[in-house]
Amino acid sequence: MVELRDLNKWYGEFHVLKNINLEVKQGEKIVICGPSGSGKSTMIRCINRLEEHQKGDIIVNDIPLNEDIKNIEAIRKEVGMVFQHFNLFPHLTVLENCVLAPIWVKKLPRKEAEAQAMELLERVKIPDQALKYPGQLSGGQQQRVAIARSLCMNPDVMLFDEPTSALDPEMIKEVLDVMIELAHEGMTMLCVTHEMGFAKTVADRVIFMDGGQIVEENEPHEFFNNPQHERTQLFLSQIL
Ligand code: ATP
Ligand code: MG
Repeated sequence: MVELRDLNKWYGEFHVLKNINLEVKQGEKIVICGPSGSGKSTMIRCINRLEEHQKGDIIVNDIPLNEDIKNIEAIRKEVGMVFQHFNLFPHLTVLENCVLAPIWVKKLPRKEAEAQAMELLERVKIPDQALKYPGQLSGGQQQRVAIARSLCMNPDVMLFDEPTSALDPEMIKEVLDVMIELAHEGMTMLCVTHEMGFAKTVADRVIFMDGGQIVEENEPHEFFNNPQHERTQLFLSQIL
């Protein structure tokens, strides 16, 4: 479903991703953790071409991600992304945020797009907020809108980049609950997060990155109870 083969990326001289190999199968949930600056965001941003890679292959649903704009657009239709800072359009209502891409990118009739958006807002438990503007919502509510907005495009894969790290503690759970539900429904997910409870609950594999490399990967129980690398042990001792 998502395949990274010998992925390398540089920012100028700086070699930020070094020979990343990762295969994510349909329905798999991958949690990515690691110290600040290790390349987690850069790696997942490469998957929908928010960042460009220089060497290696990225393949999503058998489509190679290259300069071909058709491929880039095709992949972006299948890959949803949720960011740390929600990235909602502040001048549009919640409902308008949700129908924008389905109407303009998928050419869905407005009525259909709105019905689908309401269904998804229901699913993230905020249908009553549909006509408000993002600024009138709590952080947790805004992040749930961002998730619903992504789901409106019917993605095959969801990428999350620290979706709860900008939230107050009491709002983290409401967002994680939505993510857990999504996981149980079978969504393929790549999540950069340091929410280790979430990792233990839903991850099939946990990946530890450091210095632009995947240093260690394992199923959660082994990863947390029996980390092999010194750097993983140090990282876990600092966050757990
Ligand atoms: P964090 O946990 O703080 O979010 P991260 O693991 O997501 O960190 P990245 O944001 O992927 O790390 O950054 C990896 C490295 O690349 C860092 O050293 C960062 O300073 C550098 N970097 C990120 N974006 C750019 C850019 N646009 N230009 C140059 N260097 C960048
Ligand atoms: Mg990051």
